[in-house]
Amino acid sequence: MRIRSDETYWLLKNGLLTVHPSLQENTRCDVLIVGGGITGALMAYQCGLDGYNVILIDKRDIAFGSTCASTSMLQYEIDEPLHSLKEKVGNTVAIDCYREGVRAIENLENLIKDLKLACGFERKESLYLLRSSKDEKWFEKEYHARQQAGLPVNFLTKESIQNKYKASAEAGILSTSGASIDAYAFTHQLLKICVDRFDLKIYDHTVLEEVVYKAGNHTAKVGGEFNIHFKVILYATGYESQAQIPKKVASLISTYAFVSEPILHLPKYLKDTIFWDTQDPYLYMRTTEDNRVLVGGADENFKNPVRRDLLIEKKELHLIKQLAELFPQLNVIPDFSWAGTFGVTKDSLPYIGPYLKKPNTYYILGFGGNGITFSVMGMQIISDALAGRSNRFVEYFRFGR
Ligand SMILES: Cc1cc2nc3c(=O)[nH]c(=O)nc-3n(C[C@H](O)[C@H](O)[C@H](O)COP(=O)(O)OP(=O)(O)OC[C@H]3O[C@@H](n4cnc5c(N)ncnc54)[C@H](O)[C@@H]3O)c2cc1C
Repeated sequence: MRIRSDETYWLLKNGLLTVHPSLQENTRCDVLIVGGGITGALMAYQCGLDGYNVILIDKRDIAFGSTCASTSMLQYEIDEPLHSLKEKVGNTVAIDCYREGVRAIENLENLIKDLKLACGFERKESLYLLRSSKDEKWFEKEYHARQQAGLPVNFLTKESIQNKYKASAEAGILSTSGASIDAYAFTHQLLKICVDRFDLKIYDHTVLEEVVYKAGNHTAKVGGEFNIHFKVILYATGYESQAQIPKKVASLISTYAFVSEPILHLPKYLKDTIFWDTQDPYLYMRTTEDNRVLVGGADENFKNPVRRDLLIEKKELHLIKQLAELFPQLNVIPDFSWAGTFGVTKDSLPYIGPYLKKPNTYYILGFGGNGITFSVMGMQIISDALAGRSNRFVEYFRFGR
């Protein structure tokens, strides 16, 4: 499946950062990671730290799947508001998942600082905007749910939003925990560190076609003619993972994004904040290091890549209109627009952990609008699972929950 349209901003900005050979011989490893997006890179790093001998393969170039299409806002907030997530999965799990999101952003920040990665990571506040007064009741309930859970939130009135952000909204929940990143650059840089420090072997343009399980010697058949013998396989195959799982675990959605030309005097309140709103589908917005405004939304059910991509121009106009309604004083000139496909689950939580129907098989599928935060959470979950340590998130994020 074509998971995204061709010209995403991050690809155009960064170009092809690293290239790798395709696999041309039989080989073996402890851990085989399938998928070289941001999730595969995080897993490779964690497995390297944990001392495993790792091979990573991708059927495309590195980070050419959803990772290079992502608007890459980092949020602890899940698509499902906390108060309604509690109804779906219970108080403890819902609050735990929200709090773990805050920690995941901190963990990612520490990793980026420790490794000195230049990947556009910026700490930001996150402002959730109430767009229609008819949603007032549940929005207030959401604020109280988050406050009671000890999450870092403040309630903003219509007037304070108008004064500080020049935005047209009925109210807002401001969180101090948020960030933005260039996920494409991050993925390449982290994988380079894995190659240098842990001797990670990367093969791109190498498709996983079949896995043959045999006690003590599992084999991945790749690229038509070669075998990789492995002990454990980690699927970081993003939204195409449905192909490997017999039961449908997610619905696919087409989503759209555009980035503006750089804005000469971009106000600080826009630079320091990521925004999303209560419309359905919601509008989301951040700025980039080079002072562009990056806007996403206009989601609709995915039918096929051709239809998705034919709509890019129309969706761009729609997003510009929505942005003008939210920020009437902001004048943006679009530079690049693109489309991608992402998956949503019934409770907006990811699937991360062992797949019990197959031996030594694990998935790290960070579905939803904050897939990257989930992928960061996946590092500890998978590390614990491989080492035989218990981790409560394995239960929260398990298949068949
Ligand atoms: C437009 C858009 C905006 C988004 N905005 C945000 C956001 O603001 N914040 C956020 O957190 N998330 C966002 N997301 C989601 C986020 O981008 C994803 O969660 C993240 O990129 C997933 O990374 P991944 O590595 O799991 O998947 P991918 O980047 O898709 O990587 C999976 C890789 O697996 C490879 N693969 C698949 N099958 C095989 C096979 N059989 N053999 C070999 N290789 C295979 C693919 O080629 C691919 O490179 C957005 C997504 C889109 C499309």
